[in-house]
Amino acid sequence: MKTADEYVESLRGRRMEVYFMGERIDEPVDHPAFRPHINSAAITYRRPPHDADASALATARSHLTGDAINRFTHIHQSTEDLVSKVRLLRAIGQHTGSCFQRCVGWDAMNALYVVTHDMDAQLGTPYHGRLVDYVRYVQTADLMCTGAMTDPKGDRSLAPSRQPDPDQYMHVVDRREAGIVVRGAKVHQTGAVNSHEIIVMPTAALEPADADYALAFAVPADAPGLVYVFGRQTNDSRKAEGCVDQGNLQYGIVGGEALVVFEDVFVPWERVFMCGEYAFAAPLVEVFASYHRQNYGGCKTGVADVLIGATALLADYQGVGKVSHVRDKITEMVHLTESLYCCSIACSAQGAKTGSGAYFVDPLLANVTKLNVTRNVYEIGRLAQDIAGGFIATLPSEHDLHHPRVGPLVGKYYSAREGVSTEARFRVARLVENMTGGTALVESMHGAGSPQAQKIMILRRANLPQKTRLAARLAGVADERP
Ligand code: SF4
Ligand code: FE
Repeated sequence: MKTADEYVESLRGRRMEVYFMGERIDEPVDHPAFRPHINSAAITYRRPPHDADASALATARSHLTGDAINRFTHIHQSTEDLVSKVRLLRAIGQHTGSCFQRCVGWDAMNALYVVTHDMDAQLGTPYHGRLVDYVRYVQTADLMCTGAMTDPKGDRSLAPSRQPDPDQYMHVVDRREAGIVVRGAKVHQTGAVNSHEIIVMPTAALEPADADYALAFAVPADAPGLVYVFGRQTNDSRKAEGCVDQGNLQYGIVGGEALVVFEDVFVPWERVFMCGEYAFAAPLVEVFASYHRQNYGGCKTGVADVLIGATALLADYQGVGKVSHVRDKITEMVHLTESLYCCSIACSAQGAKTGSGAYFVDPLLANVTKLNVTRNVYEIGRLAQDIAGGFIATLPSEHDLHHPRVGPLVGKYYSAREGVSTEARFRVARLVENMTGGTALVESMHGAGSPQAQKIMILRRANLPQKTRLAARLAGVADERP
């Protein structure tokens, strides 16, 4: 297994075409816009140091090699594995207060493990064996993979094959003896620039006419033809200043997302896991999405633990820590957080073995988990801002706090209770600002799919006919509908 330092070093010297703020970035590793996200992903290569119990969660035993492996490369072999995943994500979220990115590729591997097995069983395709070889490679080299699902989609009312621009969905443009050539893009790719591998999957259910869009494959992140455009985040120019104003100095906000463009990228057949089997696009999307939605009551609750702590600390600094309405609001934040955790644990504990042998979460409960995240995280953030006070929106910069003329004035007039430095108050306030700002909240809404995507899956899995039968029986009516 790699250490955190080895992971960071393994990212250096790659000849990737990366852009940020209109500039080509030759070496993202030491760049202030990228480094916090790299630090965060690196924690997945380390035993969470503050939590001995979580240390045991960080590794697993490979069912392929029998070796101890990093859990982020493991194929889940039991419901205990699924529960361990959630507990691990919470423990790491508590440490980083931010997204650590490595779950997406992990979920992609597990989803493909399940779906390639079913595809081969029904169609006689050769994908599962290839995928197993690929998983073994990822486990042995302890690689970070990003999972790439979201296509740009162009005109949302049109299927992939009907788009005026065919590149709005990833598609195959050439089939050769040694492999395929693919073109298109994936948007919002969490951790893409600091991953070793990109695992691509289709983004939606497909029709026969869309067969060229039914694609799953893996490429190294530095494969020729890949172009990365790194996204802006709320207050990201503060990172370049290296000051406390950025809030989470070490780990940043959410995942460091990028637009990843595939300009005719060659993929050898041994790395192709779906090519043309359009009927399996929808099952793959559903399995991947459910695995990823399982996570959100893990990582987001770890992050919420930090926010609750920051809010309580700030209230205490300001002398209102024991005020009853403040304690009531903090209780509410804890309740909302633990409700999300309950959902993630439940969908994991109610998981089941698939034909492939891998364990899969309860998809209905996993989708409920994520839909609740789109609401509770906003409410938790609202309560944090309520308790913190309006000054988090009007606070002068750290540069003013340390200025020879106005520094003493800022220090005096932003002071809190005795024994607490103004800088401490600034630091915690900036953390609250950072964790409840635009980028952080939008990720909770749309990461792992937008709320409507969860509602579609929830209704599909809800078994409404069974519920109407229950009601009809108790009401003593026969269901007379045609
Ligand atoms: Fe993992 Fe959470 Fe980040 Fe998704 S949002 S990659 S589940 S830490
Ligand atoms: Fe995410």
